[in-house]
Amino acid sequence: MKFKVRDIVDSIDENDLYKMQADLSKGGLFLKKIVDDKLKSMQNEKKGFCSTCGQSLDEKYKTYTLLFGPEDFKKKASFCELDCLEYFLAGLKKINENIKHNDLKHGDNNGI
Ligand SMILES: [Zn+2]
Repeated sequence: MKFKVRDIVDSIDENDLYKMQADLSKGGLFLKKIVDDKLKSMQNEKKGFCSTCGQSLDEKYKTYTLLFGPEDFKKKASFCELDCLEYFLAGLKKINENIKHNDLKHGDNNGI
């Protein structure tokens, strides 16, 4: 279950709230660091595997990520190298061409 910031603040004890208040009044550097660290670790967790060759991307410093698909159903694919990204794109292109081709072939049946 995910909590909203308001829920989190409600569950923090008074002493820690005073500490947070003091930190925020000084620019919130401590809180910023906690949030930065958490976001960084979430991004690293999401790296996963190369969509083409299956290599783990966790250790890779530089990876490539592709967001594609309709607005309400975006898909994400990550790659270890440009070669893997190109190979994936070529496959995607082929699938799209087949879909178009099939639409044309069956177009007569549902013509308006
Ligand atoms: Zn790869």
